[in-house]
Amino acid sequence: MRIWGTGVLKSMRIAFRNFMRPNITVQYPHERVELPERSRWALAMKLDEAGAHKCTGCMACEKACPDFIIKIEITTGEDRSKHIDHWHYEVGACMMCGLCVEACTFDAIEMSHDYELARIDPSTLAIELLADTPVAVAKKRAPVAPAAEPASAAASAAAEAAADTVNPAPATAEEGCADA
Ligand code: SF4
Ligand code: SF4
Repeated sequence: MRIWGTGVLKSMRIAFRNFMRPNITVQYPHERVELPERSRWALAMKLDEAGAHKCTGCMACEKACPDFIIKIEITTGEDRSKHIDHWHYEVGACMMCGLCVEACTFDAIEMSHDYELARIDPSTLAIELLADTPVAVAKKRAPVAPAAEPASAAASAAAEAAADTVNPAPATAEEGCADA
């Protein structure tokens, strides 16, 4: 038999339970959540301690971008100095994959935490990250430390060294023949 009002009580119970839970949303834009350190949003230039960009114009990022949305135009002067005319980036078409950052051996670009990318005019989603500026002096990022030698390889190297100590190789061909 159906009892009148049980649905109302059930919904009130659910409403009360959720009322007691802590909020998981924030009052954006008055409040903002702190993004995790490795969040990837709009591409940005990295600057050195002096506040200068670090792009050498090598174009590795342009080649690495699967969306073909980085366009770098460089001119070379008579003295062979390079000049960045345009460093064009279409943020509206970027899928924030980070492949361009990985390709940059000069540590010149990064995925920023700038997620407020909504625009009224879509044409403003294509931006110049650099324009009309000389390239930076080439200074590569520190190499990643090599991985530790596998235990088996280290053990075989030690065994070889021990064998050499017991039976040292002859220093010259004559010495080898004389021993025989
Ligand atoms: S951002 Fe990096 S990879 Fe791209 S052109 Fe500049 S130095 Fe080369
Ligand atoms: S993050 Fe990915 S899609 Fe965006 S510019 Fe870099 S390589 Fe291209």
